[in-house]
Amino acid sequence: MSNPLEQIPIPLLSWYEQNARELPWREEKSNPYRVWVSEIMLQQTRVTAVLGYFTRFMSEYPEIKDLANAEEESLMKVWQGLGYYSRARNLHKAAKQIMEEHGGIFPREYKEIHALSGIGDYTASAISSICYGEPYPAVDGNLLRVVARLTADDEDITSISMKKKVTNLLSEIMPLQASGKFNQALMDLGAMICLPNGIPLCARCPLSEFCQAFEQDKAAELPYRSPKKARKVEDKDIYLIVRDDMVALRQREKKGLLAGLWEYPSELACMENEETTYLGNAKHIFTHIEWHMRIFLVYWHRDTCPSNWVWVNKEELIEKYPIPTAFSQVTKMYIDLN
Ligand code: SF4
Repeated sequence: MSNPLEQIPIPLLSWYEQNARELPWREEKSNPYRVWVSEIMLQQTRVTAVLGYFTRFMSEYPEIKDLANAEEESLMKVWQGLGYYSRARNLHKAAKQIMEEHGGIFPREYKEIHALSGIGDYTASAISSICYGEPYPAVDGNLLRVVARLTADDEDITSISMKKKVTNLLSEIMPLQASGKFNQALMDLGAMICLPNGIPLCARCPLSEFCQAFEQDKAAELPYRSPKKARKVEDKDIYLIVRDDMVALRQREKKGLLAGLWEYPSELACMENEETTYLGNAKHIFTHIEWHMRIFLVYWHRDTCPSNWVWVNKEELIEKYPIPTAFSQVTKMYIDLN
């Protein structure tokens, strides 16, 4: 059976020549360290949100050795606001791995790249193709959506078999002399033309004459995705505990959600008889959980406090302690108090 995508490489690559997005990690000669960091940052995060973080990250850690030698807390501070902090921890671990196992040089073989902490099929394929011209399709949600539409395939795009099918189809037609450009062209097409949420810009698409969803007028209905489970809701009380010009923070557990980051205390047990003032509500949505928070202000008058609290002033709160975005409204409430 012929490959339904066999006619797309030439029009796709010529569209890319004219329309490629200018991004700071796309350079004449791709640097695998920069491509790696950008791909990790782009997981679950939009390009516009990543740009500023990428520039700051590269000025703090211009080379792999700088990242390997970073203090974890400073790294978390640089990452603060991007979310999914395990990505930063894995970057840190992998940088150490590269120093120890590869003499500080980013590995070249797909298998070695894939063996680095936090790197899966997609990222290994993106780095291998963009930096070393290896013919691996970088299949993520973006590419799955584009190919599901091009082939009018209504299988669930979150299924393993759909991912395999798309990987095989793309592997067969990948132009060997331009595999990096081919992957990036598909990424750009997905980001600029074949948009998610039922709004593809088919009239501007260089592939419309080869697109089965367009031909069958099904582009807006695809891809199919099985319904997600409802998120779990957790109700939490958060306390802004203030003493002089300082506020209490404590470090989260080393494992689990937002591991090792800093937060505002959330139990009243140690604060019996303290007077609390209700400040407002805040909500934060993670992938599988929603936090519904009630925020209270407490003025702390005692000489002692729980041993896991630290008292920090406003500058330290902003500059030094990595506090997850989940608490950004709480932090804002504190700043507004001052
Ligand atoms: Fe996507 Fe429309 Fe292009 Fe098909 S024609 S690939 S649905 S933008």
